[in-house]
Amino acid sequence: MSALQASRLLADVLHGTPPQQRRAMAKAITLLESTRPDHRREADALLNALLPHTGQAFRLGISGVPGVGKSTFIEALGLYLIGQGHRVAVLAVDPSSSVSGGSILGDKTRMEHLSVHEHAYIRPSPSGGNLGGVAAKTREAMLVCEAAGYDIVIVETVGVGQSETAVADMTDMFCVLQLPNAGDDLQAIKKGIMELADLVVINKADLDPDAATRAQAQITSALRLLGLHGRPETAHHDETLWHPRVIQLSALQGRGVDAFWQAVSDFRRLQQANGRLAARRQRQARAWMWERIDSGLREAFAHHAAVRERLPQLTEAVLAGRMVASAAARSLLSAFFHAPPMGGDATPSPSLNDRSL
Ligand code: GDP
Repeated sequence: MSALQASRLLADVLHGTPPQQRRAMAKAITLLESTRPDHRREADALLNALLPHTGQAFRLGISGVPGVGKSTFIEALGLYLIGQGHRVAVLAVDPSSSVSGGSILGDKTRMEHLSVHEHAYIRPSPSGGNLGGVAAKTREAMLVCEAAGYDIVIVETVGVGQSETAVADMTDMFCVLQLPNAGDDLQAIKKGIMELADLVVINKADLDPDAATRAQAQITSALRLLGLHGRPETAHHDETLWHPRVIQLSALQGRGVDAFWQAVSDFRRLQQANGRLAARRQRQARAWMWERIDSGLREAFAHHAAVRERLPQLTEAVLAGRMVASAAARSLLSAFFHAPPMGGDATPSPSLNDRSL
C-alpha cells in the first residue's frame, strides 16, 4: 500500500461517508487480520494513527452456550441502542471457527435486521490461529470500530475453552447469558465464568417464568458467596463497588432489554466514578502487550534455524530419558539467542548472556 493509499484509508475510517467508511473499516480489519509481515507493518502504522480516536466507546462482552439466544439478544439490544442514538459494532471471538469452518457470526441470517442497519457494523470472528491470535485481532478490530465512531462495541463469544476469559479481558463489562433452568444445576455453570461475570442474564424467561425466577435467586446467592472470597466483609455494603447482578429477559419478545441497559449504565457510571474502568483498561493493555510479546517470541523461536535444527534431537533425548527437560530447554534457548536466526555463522548477541536464560 502506498503512503497515499494509507492516508486515504485512515481518512475514510475516521471521516468517510457511510459507504466509504464501511468499506474502509472492512479493508482495515482485513489488513490487520493478515499474517503477511508487510501487511502487519501497515496495520501497526494504521492502528497507531487511529489510537488517539479510540477509547470513548463502551466495550461490552457477551457470552453464552450456543442456543442460549446470543444473536437474538444482540439483535434486540443493538436495535434498542440505535433507537437511543448509539452506533453499535458487533465483533466475535470464536476460536473454534477454524475447526468448524464457520464462525458464530458468519451466518448472515443471524441478526438480520441489525446487520443491514446503517448504524450497525457486524464482523464475524477472525478464523484460524490460536485463541491468542483471534483475540488480538478482535481487539484491534475493536479499535477500528471505535475510531470510526461506534460508541458501543459488543464482543460476542461462545463457551469454548478460554474464550470467555479472553473476551472479559478486552471489555469493560462481561455479561453471561443463561437458560432458565440454569439454577437447577449450579454445578453445570462453570465456576470460572461466574467469577468473570459482571452481569448474568437469564434469557428465555418467557418459556418458564417460575424457573427463571428460581434461577435468578439461586445465581444471585451463588454470586454473593463467590463475592465473599478475597473481599472484606464491608465490601458488601460499599456503595462505590459494583456487585454483580442477575436479571431476567426475553430476547425473543424484546422484554427486559431496557432493564438490561439500565444495569449496564449503572455499572458504567459506578466504574467510571470509582476509577475501576480506567484501571481495568490499563491492566488489559499491559496484559495484551505481554501476551503479544510472548506470542512473538514463541513464533520467532519456532522459526529460528538453529532451534529447528536441534529441536527434534533434543526432544527425542528428553523423551528417551537421556536428557533433563530443563537442560534441553536451556540448550535451545542458547541456540536461539546466540545463533543467527537464518542459519550461518553464530554471532553472540551482545545484550544477552546465558544468565538471562
Ligand atoms: P445463540 O446460538 O446463542 O446465538 O442463540 P440464538 O439467538 O440463535 O437463539 C437460539 C434459539 O432460541 C432461536 O430459535 C431463538 O429464536 C430462540 N430464542 C432466543 N431468545 C429467546 C427467548 O427469549 N425466548 C424464547 N422462547 N426463545 C428464544
